[in-house]
Amino acid sequence: MVNGSQYADVIIDISIEKLDRPFTYRIPERLSGIICVGSRVRIPFGGGNTEKKGYVTAIKDHADYDDDKIKDILGLVDGSISAEERSFEIAAYIKDTYGGTLSQALKAVIPVKSKVKPVEHKTLVRKMSVEELRSLADEAFRQKKTAKERLLRALAEDDRIPVSFVTRQLNVSGSTVNSIIKSGAAALESDTEYRKPTVSEIKNSKNLNLNAEQQIIVDTISSDMDEQKCGKYLIHGVTGSGKTEVYLRLAEKTVLLGKQVIFLIPEIALTYQTLARFYSKFGDRVSVLNSSMSNGEKFDQCERAKAGDIDIIIGPRSALFTPFNDIGLIILDEEHELSYKSENTPKYHAREVAARICELSGAALVLGSATPSLESYSEAEKGGIRLFELKERATGASLPKTEIIDLRAELASGNRSMFSRRLKSLMDEAVASGDQIMLFLNRRGFSGQLSCRECGKVVKCPHCDVPMSVHTGNKLICHYCGETAPKPSLCPACGSKYLAAIKAGTEAVEERINKMYPGVKTLRMDKDTTSAKGSYDKILSSFAEGEAQILIGTQMIVKGHDFPNVTLVGILAADLSLGVPDYRASERTFQLLTQACGRAGRGEKPGYSIIQTYQPDHYAILTSSEQDYKKFYDEEMAYRETAGYPPAVHMLAVQFFGTDEKKTSNLALELGDVIKSNGTNRILGPAPANIGKVMDYYRFVIYIKNADASKLAEIRNVCEEFLTNKNMNQMYVQFDLDPLNLI
Ligand code: ADP
Ligand code: ZN
Ligand code: ZN
Repeated sequence: MVNGSQYADVIIDISIEKLDRPFTYRIPERLSGIICVGSRVRIPFGGGNTEKKGYVTAIKDHADYDDDKIKDILGLVDGSISAEERSFEIAAYIKDTYGGTLSQALKAVIPVKSKVKPVEHKTLVRKMSVEELRSLADEAFRQKKTAKERLLRALAEDDRIPVSFVTRQLNVSGSTVNSIIKSGAAALESDTEYRKPTVSEIKNSKNLNLNAEQQIIVDTISSDMDEQKCGKYLIHGVTGSGKTEVYLRLAEKTVLLGKQVIFLIPEIALTYQTLARFYSKFGDRVSVLNSSMSNGEKFDQCERAKAGDIDIIIGPRSALFTPFNDIGLIILDEEHELSYKSENTPKYHAREVAARICELSGAALVLGSATPSLESYSEAEKGGIRLFELKERATGASLPKTEIIDLRAELASGNRSMFSRRLKSLMDEAVASGDQIMLFLNRRGFSGQLSCRECGKVVKCPHCDVPMSVHTGNKLICHYCGETAPKPSLCPACGSKYLAAIKAGTEAVEERINKMYPGVKTLRMDKDTTSAKGSYDKILSSFAEGEAQILIGTQMIVKGHDFPNVTLVGILAADLSLGVPDYRASERTFQLLTQACGRAGRGEKPGYSIIQTYQPDHYAILTSSEQDYKKFYDEEMAYRETAGYPPAVHMLAVQFFGTDEKKTSNLALELGDVIKSNGTNRILGPAPANIGKVMDYYRFVIYIKNADASKLAEIRNVCEEFLTNKNMNQMYVQFDLDPLNLI
């Protein structure tokens, strides 16, 4: 050991399990004091001394090896930011809980690793009086220039609007922006520094008086904060019951205590209304992360958080890792949402990781949902989470009336249409009185397939084990890999010419509606109409502005925006999501139906929801029509307990992917044997996945169940160890603890 030398443990930044241990490097004199735990460094690696990147996991003043064998760190990766120690503890927790390598966990946890040039930001600044803008907007309305009108009205409300918001969320084209600048209504202001959208005055920024239920929640959690005995809380409240108002008060309390707040929302629910409420309360102390931001923008947010320039961050799953110094509160709104779980290894769940971060920081964890996950609700029943209920809409609006329509009876009485007579007559009424309608079709597994009437085969994607869907323009599209092909005129299997497209799905509904109500404007929202960037917001905002009377869509339409003019929601085939081979099918169905029904009657007029189904007696359908969460929960939990599914037990999915079917299945068999020889778990499989092939990769799964998650972690470690010694050519294995989707 050379006197005074310092050494660093470095994890090499490549995800091969064999490298998943730290290597020791010497810190050269010129870098001493600069390199710290969390630094991202360049190092020479292997016999050829190839330059690689790595993370410093520890600094020490001695090395356990022969000093001449230890190489020097070459330097810092440009613009690297060093992560907090907390990030490492969290990364270690993620690796231990969900598997994968420490590098992979670190990548998930350290928000942005490289500094990117700041992006130039432009802001549109109001240059006319509100009255002038309003009269210009009225004129644009008369000329049917809807985009122009939208922008003018927005300017009338806010004196500064970021151009990115104008083009993305308001969906106003550059030429319209230019014409508005030319007219003198607004001017462009450039700024290279990050700027949050400013919102001057918003309608409900006045301080509301909390109702009694809201007040109890705020008081209880606040006093826990004062006494530094924060725990976990679940707010079960229907949409519109005032949860966001409670979050705002709790955030305010946290900031008063000098601590910071992380507010997680599913990306899709990131609405301007919610942001505006936070901005109006906290001004530029709040900031937003979202997936359309550049790395530079995200980096800026992290820097601001570390520097103490902001108190509140709002964002999706990854905002959890904002490097605040003193986190006091983490909120997960819509905590049941699937998007809180990472789809990539490590497949961590934001709720569980948030709980861990809160433990480490002494922070409060607040979960909110109209349809809580079984995980959270059962923990509340056991006393691990404190439960609060908000039973009514805060504005006093009533919940919609819901009716179940038995499609079997419709059929028996000779109605073969996709609309029951009851739904049809309510649609007639709504159309006549100028109200808006939402029609909801869960299209999964129900797309327009091409099937042969001679041999009965459906035309499948050559790369995936799924039928392709027929689209306008005589095209076939695979929804799993995007493969397109011309629609064949003869059956590829038997050569018959009797190929028929089973028309269903949103496209067919729209066609039908257009025939039934000629002249009534419709909008359609599904995977096909929202593939272009910004199209999702465009459809929703044009529906919100009344540019169409009927919105037809898949589950996408049940989230996000508020539509006060919607008085009727029609769920055309509630059974579709029940038929999915997944133990969470009933839960998903209950959530979707409850959310969809809740879309009606948000405004002054009362709402109606119609659920059409072939299984009117199914508990998920009955309980959602009654908006009775507890009843659903009891039935569903009993099922999970009997059948042995999460949250009654823990379940680890071991997923195998490979281009060679035989080799992949052999690997699954081999690993299955390893698992069987290691403990007393309940094992299912190996078996082909529900969808046996995607993008030319064959898929197999093994499920392991155990009441004790740490037993599953042990088994997973054994598996990972076993796999490091395997030739994994064109194959890979993933682990998913308590999977939300069975592949
Ligand atoms: P959620 O987050 O549960 O959907 P919000 O907090 O967004 O509910 O509240 C729904 C609507 O009710 C909002 O327009 C909000 O301003 C209003 N609101 C919330 N709390 C109150 C209250 N105590 N009194 C009156 N209106 C309220
Ligand atoms: Zn055929
Ligand atoms: Zn495909």
